[in-house]
Amino acid sequence: MISTTQLDEHASDSLFKMLDAENKKSITSNTFLNQLAENGILEDDPRMRELLHSFTFKVPKDTKTITQAEFNDILKQNALVKKSLSKNLVIPDFESFCKHIEDIFFETRKNKTGKVADYIPQLARVNPEQFAISICTVDGQRFSIGDSNVDFCLQSSCKPINYCLALEELGEQKVHSHVGREPSGQSFNELALNLKGLPHNPMINAGAMMSCSLIDRKNSIADRFDKVNRTWKALCAEKAVSFNNSVYLSERQTADRNFALAYFMREKNAFPEKTNLTETLEFYFQCCSIESKTYDLAAAAATLANAGTNPLTGEVIFKSSTVQNCLSLMLSCGMYDFSGEFAFKIGLPAKSGVSGALMLVIPNVMGISIWSPRLDEIGNSVRGVEFCKRLVERFSFHQYDSLTGHSTKINPRKKEKEVKASKVMELIWSASHGDLDEILRLEAEGVSPDIADYDGRTPLHLATSEGQLEVVKHLISKNVNLSPKDRWGNTPMEDAIKFKHKEIQKLLEQAIKSCNSKKDKVIESILI
Ligand code: GLN
Repeated sequence: MISTTQLDEHASDSLFKMLDAENKKSITSNTFLNQLAENGILEDDPRMRELLHSFTFKVPKDTKTITQAEFNDILKQNALVKKSLSKNLVIPDFESFCKHIEDIFFETRKNKTGKVADYIPQLARVNPEQFAISICTVDGQRFSIGDSNVDFCLQSSCKPINYCLALEELGEQKVHSHVGREPSGQSFNELALNLKGLPHNPMINAGAMMSCSLIDRKNSIADRFDKVNRTWKALCAEKAVSFNNSVYLSERQTADRNFALAYFMREKNAFPEKTNLTETLEFYFQCCSIESKTYDLAAAAATLANAGTNPLTGEVIFKSSTVQNCLSLMLSCGMYDFSGEFAFKIGLPAKSGVSGALMLVIPNVMGISIWSPRLDEIGNSVRGVEFCKRLVERFSFHQYDSLTGHSTKINPRKKEKEVKASKVMELIWSASHGDLDEILRLEAEGVSPDIADYDGRTPLHLATSEGQLEVVKHLISKNVNLSPKDRWGNTPMEDAIKFKHKEIQKLLEQAIKSCNSKKDKVIESILI
Protein backbone atom coordinates (compact mmCIF):
# COMPACT_ATOMS: atom_id res chain seq x y z
CA MET A 1 0.00 0.00 0.00
CA ILE A 2 1.20 3.50 -0.80
CA SER A 3 1.05 5.83 2.22
CA THR A 4 -0.37 9.35 1.97
CA THR A 5 3.12 10.76 2.60
CA GLN A 6 4.45 8.81 -0.36
CA LEU A 7 1.55 10.05 -2.43
CA ASP A 8 2.29 13.64 -1.36
CA GLU A 9 5.94 13.25 -2.25
CA HIS A 10 4.99 11.80 -5.59
CA ALA A 11 2.70 14.77 -6.22
CA SER A 12 5.36 17.35 -5.30
CA ASP A 13 7.93 15.52 -7.44
CA SER A 14 5.73 15.81 -10.50
CA LEU A 15 4.91 19.45 -9.74
CA PHE A 16 8.62 20.18 -9.45
CA LYS A 17 9.35 18.43 -12.75
CA MET A 18 6.69 20.50 -14.41
CA LEU A 19 8.40 23.72 -13.25
CA ASP A 20 11.90 22.45 -13.92
CA ALA A 21 11.32 22.10 -17.66
CA GLU A 22 15.06 22.05 -18.47
CA ASN A 23 15.79 19.46 -15.81
CA LYS A 24 18.30 21.65 -13.97
CA LYS A 25 17.30 20.08 -10.63
CA SER A 26 16.45 23.55 -9.34
CA ILE A 27 14.10 26.38 -10.23
CA THR A 28 14.42 30.13 -9.70
CA SER A 29 12.13 31.72 -7.13
CA ASN A 30 10.86 33.82 -10.03
CA THR A 31 9.59 30.72 -11.83
CA PHE A 32 7.97 29.56 -8.62
CA LEU A 33 6.25 32.90 -7.92
CA ASN A 34 5.16 33.37 -11.53
CA GLN A 35 3.51 29.98 -11.47
CA LEU A 36 1.62 30.93 -8.32
CA ALA A 37 0.60 34.25 -9.89
CA GLU A 38 -0.79 32.42 -12.94
CA ASN A 39 -3.01 30.55 -10.53
CA GLY A 40 -4.06 33.84 -8.93
CA ILE A 41 -1.94 33.73 -5.78
CA LEU A 42 -0.15 37.08 -5.71
CA GLU A 43 2.92 38.17 -3.79
CA ASP A 44 1.03 40.70 -1.66
CA ASP A 45 -1.34 37.97 -0.47
CA PRO A 46 -1.24 38.08 3.36
CA ARG A 47 -1.15 34.28 3.38
CA MET A 48 2.16 34.37 1.49
CA ARG A 49 3.83 36.76 3.91
CA GLU A 50 5.52 34.17 6.09
CA LEU A 51 6.82 32.15 3.18
CA LEU A 52 8.20 35.20 1.40
CA HIS A 53 9.96 36.33 4.56
CA SER A 54 11.61 32.98 4.96
CA PHE A 55 15.23 32.44 4.09
CA THR A 56 14.44 31.01 0.67
CA PHE A 57 12.96 34.23 -0.65
CA LYS A 58 15.23 36.81 0.95
CA VAL A 59 17.77 36.66 -1.86
CA PRO A 60 16.94 38.59 -5.09
CA LYS A 61 14.25 36.74 -6.96
CA ASP A 62 16.04 35.99 -10.19
CA THR A 63 19.22 34.76 -8.55
CA LYS A 64 17.77 32.60 -5.81
CA THR A 65 17.14 29.03 -6.77
CA ILE A 66 14.96 26.46 -5.06
CA THR A 67 16.06 22.84 -4.94
CA GLN A 68 13.67 19.95 -5.08
CA ALA A 69 14.08 19.28 -1.35
CA GLU A 70 13.29 22.94 -0.54
CA PHE A 71 10.33 22.80 -2.89
CA ASN A 72 8.98 19.68 -1.18
CA ASP A 73 9.33 21.42 2.19
CA ILE A 74 7.42 24.47 1.00
CA LEU A 75 4.61 22.29 -0.26
CA LYS A 76 4.49 20.35 2.99
CA GLN A 77 4.22 23.51 5.07
CA ASN A 78 2.02 25.63 2.84
CA ALA A 79 -1.32 24.13 1.87
CA LEU A 80 -2.21 27.20 -0.21
CA VAL A 81 0.87 26.80 -2.43
CA LYS A 82 0.19 23.12 -2.86
CA LYS A 83 -3.49 23.59 -3.67
CA SER A 84 -2.68 26.35 -6.11
CA LEU A 85 0.11 24.55 -7.98
CA SER A 86 -1.91 21.35 -8.20
CA LYS A 87 -4.86 23.38 -9.52
CA ASN A 88 -7.18 22.57 -6.68
CA LEU A 89 -8.57 26.04 -6.01
CA VAL A 90 -12.13 27.07 -6.78
CA ILE A 91 -11.21 28.19 -10.32
CA PRO A 92 -8.71 25.43 -11.18
CA ASP A 93 -7.68 26.83 -14.56
CA PHE A 94 -7.39 30.44 -13.43
CA GLU A 95 -5.14 31.45 -16.30
CA SER A 96 -7.63 30.60 -19.00
CA PHE A 97 -10.47 32.10 -16.96
CA CYS A 98 -8.54 35.39 -16.82
CA LYS A 99 -8.01 35.34 -20.59
CA HIS A 100 -11.80 35.33 -20.96
CA ILE A 101 -12.08 38.20 -18.50
CA GLU A 102 -9.50 40.18 -20.49
CA ASP A 103 -11.46 39.49 -23.63
CA ILE A 104 -14.73 40.68 -22.07
CA PHE A 105 -12.93 43.73 -20.65
CA PHE A 106 -11.66 44.84 -24.09
CA GLU A 107 -15.02 44.21 -25.75
CA THR A 108 -16.83 46.20 -23.05
CA ARG A 109 -14.30 49.03 -23.12
CA LYS A 110 -15.48 49.93 -26.64
CA ASN A 111 -18.75 51.17 -25.16
CA LYS A 112 -18.49 54.93 -24.69
CA THR A 113 -22.15 55.69 -24.06
CA GLY A 114 -23.57 57.24 -20.89
CA LYS A 115 -22.23 60.19 -18.95
CA VAL A 116 -20.49 60.78 -15.65
CA ALA A 117 -22.51 62.00 -12.65
CA ASP A 118 -22.37 65.78 -12.53
CA TYR A 119 -24.37 66.71 -9.42
CA ILE A 120 -21.07 67.46 -7.67
CA PRO A 121 -17.93 68.84 -9.39
CA GLN A 122 -15.69 66.11 -7.91
CA LEU A 123 -17.60 63.45 -9.85
CA ALA A 124 -18.11 65.61 -12.96
CA ARG A 125 -14.32 66.04 -13.28
CA VAL A 126 -13.46 62.32 -13.26
CA ASN A 127 -11.88 61.02 -16.50
CA PRO A 128 -14.78 59.11 -18.08
CA GLU A 129 -12.51 56.76 -20.05
CA GLN A 130 -11.31 54.92 -16.96
CA PHE A 131 -12.30 51.31 -16.58
CA ALA A 132 -11.17 48.64 -14.12
CA ILE A 133 -12.06 45.07 -13.24
CA SER A 134 -10.69 43.17 -10.25
CA ILE A 135 -11.55 39.66 -9.23
CA CYS A 136 -10.98 37.80 -6.00
CA THR A 137 -12.19 34.22 -5.59
CA VAL A 138 -13.28 32.63 -2.34
CA ASP A 139 -9.86 30.94 -2.33
CA GLY A 140 -8.16 34.32 -2.70
CA GLN A 141 -7.14 33.97 -6.38
CA ARG A 142 -6.84 37.49 -7.78
CA PHE A 143 -6.74 39.16 -11.14
CA SER A 144 -7.01 42.81 -12.17
CA ILE A 145 -7.12 44.67 -15.43
CA GLY A 146 -7.40 48.34 -16.38
CA ASP A 147 -7.31 51.23 -13.91
CA SER A 148 -7.45 48.97 -10.90
CA ASN A 149 -5.14 51.17 -8.84
CA VAL A 150 -7.10 54.40 -9.22
CA ASP A 151 -9.14 55.53 -6.22
CA PHE A 152 -12.83 56.38 -6.55
CA CYS A 153 -15.49 57.08 -3.96
CA LEU A 154 -17.82 54.30 -2.91
CA GLN A 155 -21.06 56.30 -3.06
CA SER A 156 -23.99 53.87 -2.96
CA SER A 157 -21.74 50.83 -2.98
CA CYS A 158 -21.20 51.56 0.73
CA LYS A 159 -24.87 50.74 1.41
CA PRO A 160 -24.67 46.93 1.71
CA ILE A 161 -21.84 47.18 4.24
CA ASN A 162 -23.67 49.69 6.41
CA TYR A 163 -26.70 47.42 6.31
CA CYS A 164 -24.50 44.46 7.40
CA LEU A 165 -23.10 46.51 10.28
CA ALA A 166 -26.59 47.42 11.48
CA LEU A 167 -27.69 43.78 11.22
CA GLU A 168 -24.68 42.48 13.13
CA GLU A 169 -25.33 44.90 15.94
CA LEU A 170 -29.10 44.88 16.23
CA GLY A 171 -30.38 41.78 14.44
CA GLU A 172 -32.81 41.35 11.60
CA GLN A 173 -36.00 42.11 13.51
CA LYS A 174 -34.90 45.43 14.97
CA VAL A 175 -33.29 46.65 11.74
CA HIS A 176 -36.36 45.77 9.71
CA SER A 177 -38.65 47.55 12.11
CA HIS A 178 -37.04 50.68 10.62
CA VAL A 179 -36.50 49.71 6.99
CA GLY A 180 -38.41 47.48 4.55
CA ARG A 181 -37.07 44.87 2.18
CA GLU A 182 -39.05 45.41 -1.00
CA PRO A 183 -37.67 46.93 -4.18
CA SER A 184 -39.06 50.44 -4.57
CA GLY A 185 -39.25 50.34 -8.36
CA GLN A 186 -38.28 54.00 -8.27
CA SER A 187 -35.06 55.94 -8.50
CA PHE A 188 -32.55 55.79 -5.63
CA ASN A 189 -33.45 59.20 -4.23
CA GLU A 190 -37.19 59.23 -4.95
CA LEU A 191 -39.19 61.06 -2.32
CA ALA A 192 -41.15 57.96 -1.43
CA LEU A 193 -41.65 55.65 1.55
CA ASN A 194 -43.56 52.38 1.86
CA LEU A 195 -47.08 52.06 3.28
CA LYS A 196 -45.70 51.87 6.84
CA GLY A 197 -43.84 55.14 6.33
CA LEU A 198 -40.46 53.35 6.22
CA PRO A 199 -37.82 53.38 3.50
CA HIS A 200 -38.44 50.59 0.99
CA ASN A 201 -35.05 48.90 1.49
CA PRO A 202 -31.48 49.59 2.70
CA MET A 203 -30.03 49.80 -0.84
CA ILE A 204 -31.56 53.18 -1.74
CA ASN A 205 -30.80 56.55 -0.15
CA ALA A 206 -33.60 56.67 2.44
CA GLY A 207 -32.81 53.13 3.63
CA ALA A 208 -29.09 53.78 3.68
CA MET A 209 -29.59 56.84 5.89
CA MET A 210 -31.65 54.60 8.14
CA SER A 211 -28.78 52.07 8.38
CA CYS A 212 -26.49 54.96 9.33
CA SER A 213 -28.88 56.04 12.07
CA LEU A 214 -28.73 52.51 13.51
CA ILE A 215 -24.97 51.81 13.54
CA ASP A 216 -23.25 52.12 16.92
CA ARG A 217 -25.72 54.72 18.28
CA LYS A 218 -24.24 54.88 21.77
CA ASN A 219 -20.92 56.20 20.49
CA SER A 220 -19.75 59.56 19.18
CA ILE A 221 -20.15 60.22 15.48
CA ALA A 222 -16.34 60.11 15.12
CA ASP A 223 -16.20 56.65 16.65
CA ARG A 224 -19.09 55.53 14.47
CA PHE A 225 -17.22 56.60 11.36
CA ASP A 226 -14.09 54.85 12.66
CA LYS A 227 -16.08 51.66 12.92
CA VAL A 228 -17.21 51.88 9.29
CA ASN A 229 -13.69 52.76 8.19
CA ARG A 230 -12.19 49.84 10.12
CA THR A 231 -14.72 47.48 8.59
CA TRP A 232 -13.80 48.57 5.06
CA LYS A 233 -10.13 48.12 5.88
CA ALA A 234 -10.80 44.59 7.11
CA LEU A 235 -12.91 43.86 4.02
CA CYS A 236 -10.07 45.08 1.80
CA ALA A 237 -7.67 42.63 3.49
CA GLU A 238 -6.05 45.29 5.71
CA LYS A 239 -5.36 47.73 2.87
CA ALA A 240 -6.22 51.20 4.15
CA VAL A 241 -9.17 52.92 2.52
CA SER A 242 -9.08 56.71 2.21
CA PHE A 243 -11.55 59.52 2.68
CA ASN A 244 -12.22 62.18 0.05
CA ASN A 245 -13.01 65.31 2.01
CA SER A 246 -13.96 67.41 -1.02
CA VAL A 247 -16.50 64.79 -2.12
CA TYR A 248 -17.91 64.88 1.41
CA LEU A 249 -18.12 68.68 1.47
CA SER A 250 -19.80 68.74 -1.93
CA GLU A 251 -22.26 66.01 -0.95
CA ARG A 252 -23.17 68.04 2.13
CA GLN A 253 -23.66 71.16 0.08
CA THR A 254 -25.97 69.55 -2.48
CA ALA A 255 -28.03 67.53 -0.06
CA ASP A 256 -31.50 69.04 -0.37
CA ARG A 257 -33.09 65.86 -1.64
CA ASN A 258 -31.44 63.72 1.06
CA PHE A 259 -32.53 66.21 3.73
CA ALA A 260 -36.06 66.16 2.31
CA LEU A 261 -36.04 62.36 2.54
CA ALA A 262 -34.75 62.47 6.10
CA TYR A 263 -37.41 64.99 7.23
CA PHE A 264 -40.07 62.91 5.50
CA MET A 265 -38.90 59.86 7.48
CA ARG A 266 -38.79 61.84 10.71
CA GLU A 267 -42.33 63.05 10.14
CA LYS A 268 -43.38 59.39 9.83
CA ASN A 269 -41.50 58.43 13.03
CA ALA A 270 -39.36 56.03 11.04
CA PHE A 271 -36.07 56.73 12.89
CA PRO A 272 -35.19 55.33 16.32
CA GLU A 273 -35.94 57.76 19.12
CA LYS A 274 -33.52 60.64 19.68
CA THR A 275 -31.94 60.38 16.22
CA ASN A 276 -29.88 63.46 15.38
CA LEU A 277 -30.86 64.13 11.79
CA THR A 278 -27.96 66.33 10.71
CA GLU A 279 -25.42 64.03 12.30
CA THR A 280 -27.00 60.99 10.63
CA LEU A 281 -26.97 62.66 7.21
CA GLU A 282 -23.37 63.77 7.61
CA PHE A 283 -22.42 60.26 8.64
CA TYR A 284 -24.12 58.95 5.49
CA PHE A 285 -22.26 61.46 3.26
CA GLN A 286 -18.99 60.49 4.93
CA CYS A 287 -19.61 56.81 4.19
CA CYS A 288 -20.33 57.69 0.52
CA SER A 289 -17.01 59.60 0.42
CA ILE A 290 -14.80 56.69 1.45
CA GLU A 291 -12.42 55.88 -1.38
CA SER A 292 -10.71 52.77 -2.57
CA LYS A 293 -9.68 50.98 -5.76
CA THR A 294 -11.03 47.87 -7.48
CA TYR A 295 -7.76 46.05 -6.66
CA ASP A 296 -8.66 46.18 -2.95
CA LEU A 297 -12.44 46.25 -3.22
CA ALA A 298 -12.49 42.86 -4.96
CA ALA A 299 -11.55 41.33 -1.59
CA ALA A 300 -14.58 43.05 -0.03
CA ALA A 301 -16.87 41.56 -2.69
CA ALA A 302 -15.16 38.19 -2.20
CA THR A 303 -15.84 38.39 1.55
CA LEU A 304 -19.55 38.56 0.77
CA ALA A 305 -19.17 35.68 -1.71
CA ASN A 306 -17.40 33.76 1.05
CA ALA A 307 -20.21 34.18 3.61
CA GLY A 308 -18.51 36.95 5.61
CA THR A 309 -14.98 35.57 5.96
CA ASN A 310 -12.25 37.44 4.13
CA PRO A 311 -10.53 34.87 1.90
CA LEU A 312 -7.15 36.62 2.08
CA THR A 313 -6.90 37.22 5.82
CA GLY A 314 -9.26 34.55 7.12
CA GLU A 315 -10.92 37.18 9.31
CA VAL A 316 -14.61 36.61 10.04
CA ILE A 317 -16.05 40.06 9.37
CA PHE A 318 -19.76 39.26 9.23
CA LYS A 319 -21.89 36.29 10.28
CA SER A 320 -23.08 34.16 7.37
CA SER A 321 -26.72 34.94 8.22
CA THR A 322 -25.95 38.67 7.92
CA VAL A 323 -24.40 38.12 4.50
CA GLN A 324 -27.34 35.98 3.41
CA ASN A 325 -29.73 38.84 4.20
CA CYS A 326 -27.50 41.37 2.53
CA LEU A 327 -27.08 39.36 -0.68
CA SER A 328 -30.83 38.74 -0.85
CA LEU A 329 -31.44 42.47 -0.85
CA MET A 330 -28.58 43.17 -3.24
CA LEU A 331 -30.21 40.72 -5.64
CA SER A 332 -33.65 42.31 -5.44
CA CYS A 333 -32.74 45.97 -4.85
CA GLY A 334 -29.02 46.56 -5.50
CA MET A 335 -29.20 48.12 -8.97
CA TYR A 336 -31.78 50.89 -8.30
CA ASP A 337 -34.83 50.62 -10.59
CA PHE A 338 -32.92 48.27 -12.89
CA SER A 339 -32.79 45.65 -10.13
CA GLY A 340 -35.56 43.42 -11.52
CA GLU A 341 -34.03 43.37 -14.99
CA PHE A 342 -30.56 42.75 -13.52
CA ALA A 343 -31.83 39.84 -11.40
CA PHE A 344 -33.58 38.42 -14.49
CA LYS A 345 -30.67 38.73 -16.90
CA ILE A 346 -27.62 38.41 -14.66
CA GLY A 347 -29.14 36.53 -11.73
CA LEU A 348 -26.52 37.67 -9.21
CA PRO A 349 -26.42 40.05 -6.23
CA ALA A 350 -24.77 43.38 -7.03
CA LYS A 351 -24.57 46.97 -5.82
CA SER A 352 -23.79 50.04 -7.85
CA GLY A 353 -22.88 53.63 -6.97
CA VAL A 354 -23.03 56.93 -8.88
CA SER A 355 -19.23 57.08 -9.04
CA GLY A 356 -19.49 54.20 -11.54
CA ALA A 357 -18.64 51.58 -8.92
CA LEU A 358 -20.22 48.13 -9.12
CA MET A 359 -19.74 45.24 -6.73
CA LEU A 360 -20.79 41.85 -8.11
CA VAL A 361 -21.01 38.74 -5.94
CA ILE A 362 -20.99 35.15 -7.20
CA PRO A 363 -21.77 33.26 -3.97
CA ASN A 364 -19.23 30.58 -3.08
CA VAL A 365 -17.13 31.45 -6.10
CA MET A 366 -15.85 35.04 -6.30
CA GLY A 367 -16.41 38.75 -5.85
CA ILE A 368 -15.82 41.22 -8.67
CA SER A 369 -15.22 44.93 -8.31
CA ILE A 370 -15.92 46.97 -11.44
CA TRP A 371 -15.44 50.68 -12.00
CA SER A 372 -16.25 52.81 -14.98
CA PRO A 373 -17.65 56.32 -14.41
CA ARG A 374 -20.07 56.75 -17.32
CA LEU A 375 -23.62 56.09 -16.10
CA ASP A 376 -26.91 55.24 -17.80
CA GLU A 377 -30.05 57.26 -17.07
CA ILE A 378 -30.83 55.06 -14.05
CA GLY A 379 -27.45 55.78 -12.45
CA ASN A 380 -25.67 52.46 -13.06
CA SER A 381 -22.27 52.21 -14.71
CA VAL A 382 -22.87 51.51 -18.42
CA ARG A 383 -19.77 49.37 -18.82
CA GLY A 384 -20.33 47.80 -15.42
CA VAL A 385 -23.72 46.45 -16.48
CA GLU A 386 -22.42 45.41 -19.90
CA PHE A 387 -19.49 43.55 -18.33
CA CYS A 388 -21.90 41.62 -16.07
CA LYS A 389 -24.10 40.72 -19.04
CA ARG A 390 -21.18 39.47 -21.09
CA LEU A 391 -19.83 37.56 -18.09
CA VAL A 392 -22.98 35.50 -17.59
CA GLU A 393 -23.37 34.99 -21.33
CA ARG A 394 -20.03 33.21 -21.30
CA PHE A 395 -19.95 31.53 -17.87
CA SER A 396 -22.61 29.58 -16.01
CA PHE A 397 -22.77 32.14 -13.18
CA HIS A 398 -26.47 33.10 -13.31
CA GLN A 399 -27.92 31.58 -10.14
CA TYR A 400 -30.33 29.43 -12.18
CA ASP A 401 -27.85 28.28 -14.82
CA SER A 402 -27.68 24.99 -12.96
CA LEU A 403 -31.26 24.29 -14.07
CA THR A 404 -30.48 24.35 -17.77
CA GLY A 405 -28.53 21.16 -18.31
CA HIS A 406 -27.93 21.76 -22.00
CA SER A 407 -26.16 25.06 -21.42
CA THR A 408 -23.18 25.69 -23.64
CA LYS A 409 -21.81 28.13 -21.07
CA ILE A 410 -18.44 27.46 -19.50
CA ASN A 411 -18.35 26.28 -15.91
CA PRO A 412 -14.91 27.37 -14.69
CA ARG A 413 -15.48 26.11 -11.15
CA LYS A 414 -14.50 22.51 -11.49
CA LYS A 415 -12.08 20.39 -13.38
CA GLU A 416 -13.64 18.70 -16.39
CA LYS A 417 -12.56 15.30 -15.13
CA GLU A 418 -14.29 15.96 -11.83
CA VAL A 419 -17.50 16.98 -13.57
CA LYS A 420 -17.50 13.80 -15.65
CA ALA A 421 -16.69 11.61 -12.67
CA SER A 422 -19.48 13.13 -10.62
CA LYS A 423 -22.01 12.54 -13.42
CA VAL A 424 -20.91 8.90 -13.73
CA MET A 425 -21.40 8.51 -9.99
CA GLU A 426 -24.83 10.16 -10.16
CA LEU A 427 -25.97 7.86 -12.96
CA ILE A 428 -24.74 4.74 -11.23
CA TRP A 429 -26.27 5.79 -7.94
CA SER A 430 -29.60 6.52 -9.64
CA ALA A 431 -29.54 3.12 -11.36
CA SER A 432 -29.00 1.33 -8.06
CA HIS A 433 -31.83 3.32 -6.40
CA GLY A 434 -34.28 2.89 -9.28
CA ASP A 435 -34.48 6.65 -9.93
CA LEU A 436 -35.53 6.55 -13.57
CA ASP A 437 -36.36 10.29 -13.74
CA GLU A 438 -32.83 11.18 -12.70
CA ILE A 439 -31.42 8.71 -15.25
CA LEU A 440 -33.47 10.34 -18.01
CA ARG A 441 -32.29 13.79 -16.88
CA LEU A 442 -28.63 12.73 -16.93
CA GLU A 443 -29.06 11.12 -20.34
CA ALA A 444 -30.56 14.38 -21.59
CA GLU A 445 -27.39 16.07 -20.35
CA GLY A 446 -25.45 13.75 -22.62
CA VAL A 447 -24.22 11.17 -20.08
CA SER A 448 -23.96 7.78 -21.79
CA PRO A 449 -25.84 4.93 -20.01
CA ASP A 450 -22.97 2.68 -21.07
CA ILE A 451 -20.36 4.27 -18.82
CA ALA A 452 -18.61 2.43 -16.02
CA ASP A 453 -17.05 3.52 -12.74
CA TYR A 454 -13.49 2.94 -11.56
CA ASP A 455 -14.33 -0.73 -10.87
CA GLY A 456 -15.92 -1.26 -14.25
CA ARG A 457 -19.40 -1.34 -12.69
CA THR A 458 -22.01 -0.05 -15.13
CA PRO A 459 -25.55 1.22 -14.43
CA LEU A 460 -26.76 -2.19 -15.68
CA HIS A 461 -24.62 -4.02 -13.09
CA LEU A 462 -26.03 -1.85 -10.30
CA ALA A 463 -29.65 -1.93 -11.40
CA THR A 464 -29.44 -5.72 -11.72
CA SER A 465 -27.76 -6.26 -8.36
CA GLU A 466 -30.36 -4.10 -6.62
CA GLY A 467 -33.33 -5.63 -8.46
CA GLN A 468 -34.39 -2.41 -10.20
CA LEU A 469 -36.53 -3.98 -12.92
CA GLU A 470 -37.77 -0.75 -14.55
CA VAL A 471 -34.25 0.61 -14.81
CA VAL A 472 -33.01 -2.65 -16.34
CA LYS A 473 -35.85 -2.49 -18.91
CA HIS A 474 -34.91 1.10 -19.71
CA LEU A 475 -31.21 0.31 -20.12
CA ILE A 476 -32.00 -2.61 -22.42
CA SER A 477 -34.18 -0.30 -24.52
CA LYS A 478 -31.18 2.02 -24.77
CA ASN A 479 -29.13 -0.79 -26.38
CA VAL A 480 -26.44 -0.74 -23.70
CA ASN A 481 -23.79 -3.44 -23.69
CA LEU A 482 -25.58 -6.36 -22.01
CA SER A 483 -22.51 -8.29 -20.92
CA PRO A 484 -19.92 -5.79 -19.66
CA LYS A 485 -17.38 -7.23 -17.23
CA ASP A 486 -16.47 -5.43 -14.01
CA ARG A 487 -12.98 -5.62 -12.54
CA TRP A 488 -13.79 -8.94 -10.93
CA GLY A 489 -14.94 -10.35 -14.27
CA ASN A 490 -18.65 -10.33 -13.37
CA THR A 491 -21.42 -9.55 -15.88
CA PRO A 492 -24.91 -8.21 -14.99
CA MET A 493 -26.31 -11.69 -15.69
CA GLU A 494 -24.01 -13.16 -13.03
CA ASP A 495 -25.16 -10.46 -10.62
CA ALA A 496 -28.81 -11.29 -11.34
CA ILE A 497 -28.15 -14.94 -10.54
CA LYS A 498 -26.06 -14.14 -7.46
CA PHE A 499 -28.68 -11.82 -5.95
CA LYS A 500 -31.59 -14.04 -7.06
CA HIS A 501 -33.46 -11.51 -9.18
CA LYS A 502 -35.23 -14.09 -11.32
CA GLU A 503 -37.37 -11.71 -13.39
CA ILE A 504 -34.35 -9.61 -14.31
CA GLN A 505 -32.36 -12.73 -15.10
CA LYS A 506 -35.12 -13.81 -17.55
CA LEU A 507 -35.24 -10.37 -19.11
CA LEU A 508 -31.48 -10.29 -19.62
CA GLU A 509 -31.50 -13.79 -21.13
CA GLN A 510 -34.17 -12.75 -23.64
CA ALA A 511 -32.41 -9.50 -24.45
CA ILE A 512 -29.06 -11.21 -25.00
CA LYS A 513 -30.75 -13.84 -27.18
CA SER A 514 -32.52 -11.31 -29.35
CA CYS A 515 -29.38 -9.26 -29.56
CA ASN A 516 -27.40 -12.30 -30.74
CA SER A 517 -30.04 -13.26 -33.30
CA LYS A 518 -30.02 -9.67 -34.62
CA LYS A 519 -26.25 -9.87 -34.86
CA ASP A 520 -26.55 -13.25 -36.65
CA LYS A 521 -28.96 -11.71 -39.14
CA VAL A 522 -26.60 -8.85 -39.82
CA ILE A 523 -23.71 -11.25 -40.28
CA GLU A 524 -25.86 -13.41 -42.58
CA SER A 525 -26.82 -10.39 -44.65
CA ILE A 526 -23.16 -9.42 -44.95
CA LEU A 527 -22.15 -12.94 -45.94
CA ILE A 528 -24.89 -13.29 -48.58
N1 GLN B 1 -24.11 60.35 -2.43
C1 GLN B 1 -25.14 59.96 -3.32
C2 GLN B 1 -26.48 60.44 -2.82
O1 GLN B 1 -26.76 60.29 -1.68
C3 GLN B 1 -25.11 58.47 -3.44
C4 GLN B 1 -26.16 57.98 -4.34
C5 GLN B 1 -25.74 56.88 -5.24
O2 GLN B 1 -24.60 56.45 -5.36
N2 GLN B 1 -26.71 56.44 -5.97
O3 GLN B 1 -27.28 60.96 -3.55
